[in-house]
Amino acid sequence: MTPPKIKIESLDFYYNNHQILSNINETIPENAITSIIGPSGAGKSTFLSLFNRLWETTPGARVEGRVLARFHHSFMDINTPKFSVTQLRRAVGMVFQMPNPLPMSIFNNVAFPLKLAGIKEKEAVQNRVTAAIKACGLWPEVKDRLEKKATTLSGGQQQRLCMARALVMEPEILLLDEPTSSLDPRSGAMIEELMVDLKQRCTLIMVSHQPDQVEKIADHIIDFTPGPES
Ligand code: ADP
Repeated sequence: MTPPKIKIESLDFYYNNHQILSNINETIPENAITSIIGPSGAGKSTFLSLFNRLWETTPGARVEGRVLARFHHSFMDINTPKFSVTQLRRAVGMVFQMPNPLPMSIFNNVAFPLKLAGIKEKEAVQNRVTAAIKACGLWPEVKDRLEKKATTLSGGQQQRLCMARALVMEPEILLLDEPTSSLDPRSGAMIEELMVDLKQRCTLIMVSHQPDQVEKIADHIIDFTPGPES
């Protein structure tokens, strides 16, 4: 197993008075695919939201315990105030269950995070967008239509575009919430291959409801299936 990228220590999570996660202690290995499994409502998406602090947008949500991530050699608690959400979300990308392209061109979708980060130099933007689209295996399919609306792409292409948009910031961690469940089997298989390729450059954490997918690509599994005593 590769060294840890994230350590979760004595973690409890609440939505108001409703405790969703209790005393979680887990390690997420770096440059590997960790799969989060368990029945609906078990807290998988909530667990995923810990790593980019997406949970903070929910009123009444509260975390106790620590989420330590290793950026620049040392572990840091990502919930400490000195770690800004903006800084965190540059290092932690996310891909959702349904492809969610922005209402703009294919090129501008992938360039958008660079624009938000204030990266304007035309050649740098061009190079990074091209590299991210190529990394997602989408280049041959879109290179002649980069100015067309992203919504003209198929569902599978849109999901790979969303992955390119997440990768353009060169994140160290990529979160994926059931990334293939809305796709046909062939598009799903392409995304799975892509995830395996991406291990070389980042740490992937994926919620999945598909046992065959977990068996095929996961290096490490965190199971939220309640035990017989709960
Ligand atoms: P899973 O991803 O395993 O289906 P979730 O993390 O989405 O589980 O949800 C875990 C529990 O938290 C469920 O009981 C759900 O109803 C509750 N929950 C999820 N999001 C919210 C929210 N924004 N406010 C209150 N409760 C929520």
